[in-house]
Order: sequence, then structure tokens, then C-alpha cells
Amino acid sequence: MSIAYPTPCVDPIRLVVLDLAGTTVDYGSRAPLAAFLELFRRHGVELAEEEARGPMGTHKRKHIEALLALPRVHQLWCDRHGNEPGPTDVQQLYEEFQPIQLALLSQSEYANLIPGAKKAASELRALGCRIGVTTGYSWDMTDVVLREAARRGFAPDVAVSGSDVPEGRPAPWLAQTCARELGIYPMTSVVKAGDTVVDVEAGLNAGMWSLGIAATGNLMGLSQEAEQTLAPVERAQRLAAARQRLHAAGAHAVLDSIAELPAWVEAHNQRAAEQA
Ligand SMILES: [Mg+2]
Repeated sequence: MSIAYPTPCVDPIRLVVLDLAGTTVDYGSRAPLAAFLELFRRHGVELAEEEARGPMGTHKRKHIEALLALPRVHQLWCDRHGNEPGPTDVQQLYEEFQPIQLALLSQSEYANLIPGAKKAASELRALGCRIGVTTGYSWDMTDVVLREAARRGFAPDVAVSGSDVPEGRPAPWLAQTCARELGIYPMTSVVKAGDTVVDVEAGLNAGMWSLGIAATGNLMGLSQEAEQTLAPVERAQRLAAARQRLHAAGAHAVLDSIAELPAWVEAHNQRAAEQA
């Protein structure tokens, strides 16, 4: 028996779904990192940056649960508090996290657009794409990010936050809700781009083209200033490691930044036109 599979690349891209922190705004995804470090510091637990970044991209409540489940953090918590962290602690930490994160989000060092984001959005629209954003932030946090982004010239056609869906990344619902809200299908006419492993997984789970963003995101983990002062060899090593993680997650392609997205869409649409 022979099965004819559809050619995988015949639909031009009509929707680009972008992650926020580390992809569109907040070079290096520093805002959530700073908030998690401060939250745990207030409870007597000093997190290493790498620990705090591990679950990035998931819903912030899940992120807190994942941090408490790390053996070292779990032990530190037990030593400091005399009890194992439970659901009440998670709830309390999440409630404390929100004002900490909200206060950080409007600071310009975290709210600035990633270089090229505004230009990329207008180029993508010129290529016939709508633009959606998804985030692990709740709506009150997302409102702040979008307000600051709009002041800087970036406004998506649709935004879906962690508050809107039953489960965040790597589930596909955030990205698929963008498509549903705009009435765009099939999913092969959508490309999802994000800077974390769960972003890539969510795009694949959604049946979309799924791209990783390496240089400006959580896996590189550096502000633009810090990245520029890094020795070239160290920068190259860190970038190669970030790219490798995103490729290993199954990304169809890994870009350095959002600025490269219009060229990817243009090349994809060219291939699609040739194969249609
Ligand atoms: Mg991100």
C-alpha cells in the first residue's frame, strides 16, 4: 500500500506568532529572570541564574513549581523554612511574584523592543502576514508589556496570554488561539517563533512551522550590552550552544533574532510557490 503524503511546504505564511520576552522585547529575557531571583531571595533562597532560567517560557506558576522541584532549591527551602514546599507555598509565591514582575516590566531596560522588531513587523505585514504574540505572562503583565511595546511602535494583531488558555507551553493552545482568533488555517500557513525549548515544542505541537530564536533570548541569557562586551570566542560558544538546544528541540530553523524572520518567510513563500 502506498500512501501519498501532502507536500509539506505549499502554503504561504499568513500568520507569524511571536513570543514576547527574548523574542520581541526584553533582549536576553531579563525581566522574568530578575523577578524570579528577587522572589526567591525574599524567601531566603539564592537562585543561580541558570537555575532560574531553566523553566523559562512556561506559565509563571509552573515556573515556580519547577524551581521548587530542583533538588538544590528544594533542600535550601526545607533548611530555611523547616518544611517541604507545598501547594500553599506555590500559591503564595505566585501571588508575590506578580507585583514584583509588574514593577519590573515597565522599566525601559526590560521593555525595549529587540533591535529590528518594529521593522520586521512592517516587513512581515508587507509579505501578507498577520502578527500574533503569545506569552507565559498573565494578562496584567501582558498589558504592561504590550502598552510599552506600542509606545515603541510595535502592536500585534492579536495577543494571547497564559491567562487565556488551560495550559501554557509546550501545549499548542497559546499559538493555536492566535490562529483561531484571526481565522487563519491551515496551521502550515503559520510560523511560530520563540526563544525557549518549550516555544519550539509548542509550535511543533500546534502543527506550525516552528523557529527558535537564539541570540536575543533566554538561552543566550545576556543583555545587549553584556553580549557586546563578551569575548568573541565566548560569544560564539554560547550562541552555538543556544542554537544546538533549539535544533535539538526540533526547530525547523534557528535564527539569531526577529530581524531575520521576514527573510525566512520570503524564502519559505518562494519554496511554497515553486512546489504548489
Ligand atoms: Mg521568551
